[in-house]
Amino acid sequence: MQYVFHYDQVPSPDRDLLGGKGAGLAEMTALGLRVPPGFTITTGACRAFMTAGTAPPEMWEQVRGAIARLEEQSGRRFGGGGGIPLLVSVRSGAKFSMPGMMDTVLNLGINDLVAKELAEWAGNERFAWDVYRRFLQMFGKVVLGAPAEAFESVLSELRARREVDSDAALTAADLEEATVRFHDIIGSTTGSTVPVDPLEQLERSVMAVFTSWENRRARSYRRLHGIADDLGTAANVQMMVFGDLGDDSGTGVCFTRDPATGEHRPYGDYLPDAQGEDVVAGIRNTFSLEQLGERHPDIHAELLGVMTGLEAHYRDMCDIEFTIEKGRLWILQTRIGKRTAQAAVRLAVEMADEGMIDRRDAVLRVDPGALEQLQRPRLEDRHGVEPVARGVAASPGAARGAAVFDADRAVELADNGDEVILIRHETTPDDIHGMAAAQGILTSRGGKTSHAAVVARGMGKPAVTGAAALDVDESAGKMTVGPLMITEGDLVTIDGTEGLVYPGPLPLVAPTSIPELDTLLAWADDFRTLGVRANADTPDDARRARAAGAEGIGLARTEHMFMGERLTVVQRIILSEDQQEREVALEQLAELQTDDFEGLLEAMDGLPVIVRLLDPPLHEFLPNRHELEERRIARIRAGQDDADLARLEAAVDRWEEANPMLGLRGVRLGLVMPELYLMQVRAALAAVAQRLAAGGDPRLEIMVPLVSTDEELRRVREMIEREVEAAFPDGAPHLPVGTMIELPRAALTAGDIAQVADFFSFGTNDLTQTTFGLSRDDADRTFLPLFLDQHIYATNPFQTLDRKGVARLVEVGTRDGRRANPALEVGLCGEHGGDPESIRICQEIGLDYVSCSPPRVIVARLAAAQAALGVSSASASV
Ligand code: PEP
Ligand code: MG
Repeated sequence: MQYVFHYDQVPSPDRDLLGGKGAGLAEMTALGLRVPPGFTITTGACRAFMTAGTAPPEMWEQVRGAIARLEEQSGRRFGGGGGIPLLVSVRSGAKFSMPGMMDTVLNLGINDLVAKELAEWAGNERFAWDVYRRFLQMFGKVVLGAPAEAFESVLSELRARREVDSDAALTAADLEEATVRFHDIIGSTTGSTVPVDPLEQLERSVMAVFTSWENRRARSYRRLHGIADDLGTAANVQMMVFGDLGDDSGTGVCFTRDPATGEHRPYGDYLPDAQGEDVVAGIRNTFSLEQLGERHPDIHAELLGVMTGLEAHYRDMCDIEFTIEKGRLWILQTRIGKRTAQAAVRLAVEMADEGMIDRRDAVLRVDPGALEQLQRPRLEDRHGVEPVARGVAASPGAARGAAVFDADRAVELADNGDEVILIRHETTPDDIHGMAAAQGILTSRGGKTSHAAVVARGMGKPAVTGAAALDVDESAGKMTVGPLMITEGDLVTIDGTEGLVYPGPLPLVAPTSIPELDTLLAWADDFRTLGVRANADTPDDARRARAAGAEGIGLARTEHMFMGERLTVVQRIILSEDQQEREVALEQLAELQTDDFEGLLEAMDGLPVIVRLLDPPLHEFLPNRHELEERRIARIRAGQDDADLARLEAAVDRWEEANPMLGLRGVRLGLVMPELYLMQVRAALAAVAQRLAAGGDPRLEIMVPLVSTDEELRRVREMIEREVEAAFPDGAPHLPVGTMIELPRAALTAGDIAQVADFFSFGTNDLTQTTFGLSRDDADRTFLPLFLDQHIYATNPFQTLDRKGVARLVEVGTRDGRRANPALEVGLCGEHGGDPESIRICQEIGLDYVSCSPPRVIVARLAAAQAALGVSSASASV
């Protein structure tokens, strides 16, 4: 079995086998770019290691052979002993990029003897000690498990002694002292020593990289991004080139286009006299590519050429790591660059316009789920408040919340329902749960390519990085900026589009769409076959949905129209024993509902509007017992009588149910208390009449919820038809009547139900609850998080349609319904209607449309196009 491939001997850049990094290095080598020589140990080796607990013996043989070849290629010697010493890096690299989640060891192959030879070669003793201490620090932490803070505290002591604030200002003697003390720290904290033999260093590091595939943060990253646990990572062993050899050296990261906005101009961060990790770690503030151009015009021009070439080769925006060693440019890595949703849209459209890709590619390139972030809040008017700090605009959008300085605290406060902004010097992969819980991220160090920036963009959260004016004290839970002190819980606002930080909560406004988005969605519409409607209950929502491209209302939940100040009228209908009083209340509500429906029909003029008759259990319109008890106590204290109270109490007693979700609701209530449905139908028909009189084109459809037998629907349908005849004696407009399919029995008897229905709409919220036999809100508070965490449920069935269970009911219901009634129109209006993966299932089943909340209409349009193109949204590049 071949476990090792040299970059210049790879038959094809196979990402499954070599990982993304290994495949990219092989590809760049084949393109003739100046890539430091090296080799990849395959993901297959990692899988074998994970299964057996030890690496296959022939793998080590191949690695030793590969090192010998690497010595030949580089003209350097591994382990020293004359000539230029060969140092290598060992980096993880899985099929899918998992930035910062797994381990890396740099500067490997050094020991006391090699350090001396390195100093001679470089003519620079300080450099050699710096390389040595970096190696000890990484090997000590990653391979031997020594505490990182112990090394850091030695360095900060040395900086304090020399009164400097950067490691770059430490002398050779300081760094030599650091290496001695680092050896001691490793000995005293781990009981081990760093092997002198470079091959042993290499073996231990490769195993550490393989093992890091299973670490906690890598596992949670995989869960977050839906990456399979059994892929394993490759390990890349590559000749070190040094960016820390003085002012004619340096290191950087660049993007062929701006990853935050998508603008067509190269973007990058560069640090002179530094090693690669320094840029990403955000330890010093970086220079721009333009500044690199001022210092080294030739290298800058060469780099721009490489960028253009790589972008043309990959036909996508690339993220490139480079190092300049004594005036020579080396390319260390290329991958398809992570980007914000805004950038993804702009890049896709512009690249299609440039002819680099076609429209199909453009539509497939953008993750539909990420489009929601384009509608993220933003700061438009700062209301005279001055920013307290300026940093890098690392991820767009604005966020506000309580300042917190620790990831665990962020999770705690967010669990309590607080909105928080996570503030750190810089973030590390250990902060990932706190970042997920926060509204936005703020750091005092780092650039657009720092960990905080990359992760925030991936999560679709606003971030400001490198706000150097902030003096952050993480352990004390506070930061100072000028005279201002902000402690945990104080509200702050960050603007990730401008890179600004404000004290206090500033008002945020909904964002406007970007021009490229309309183009992309228009292309998507050309590919998609599934209709997209919106769930909207108010004219405002309906207008917003229509502007976003909704082709009608798939679900107007009328119960929302029963709440607020109308509740007392509704209560009068329920409570009154006097027929006349009840009719007055019904009439009053009918008038109000007529206006509601008219507004919806006007906003969606010419498009279908599905009005669902009342669904929730009656007791939702009555006060709860606790409220009644308080009211009674207050009345007794005031010495007043309250006849209403007694009636309310009696009604609560009468309508209380042990399990209201499965109780008197939906069509059952409609049949028990027909006057409610009749009132709603009359109001809807009156709204149609008024719209017709006004010259409009109302397309009302009436939907009955929670049907489980055809007889229920038949009876309500008869009621509706009588009202239609009465309202339009001279001939009624076309008024389809249909039903929600949200109970398993309804799906299984769809053939019967379809004979009395013009349309079906799958209510997959209730259908999921009733198929699984659980109540969503209760499960969410009790066992659902645990089940997801422990993989008892692979995904949250309320987010993504359960393919094996609920989706089968949808499939059976659709098939049987259409067989019985070929004209039947079939849609889906549960939350799943805005979820890309569920939309794919809807496409496979062959539904006519999905209906989702207005902000997800654009998500659904794009997801439906991708589903029609038959490609999983998971392969989109955001
Ligand atoms: C459903 O059950 O999926 C549905 C859309 O109805 P509601 O969420 O209002 O119960
Ligand atoms: Mg429902």
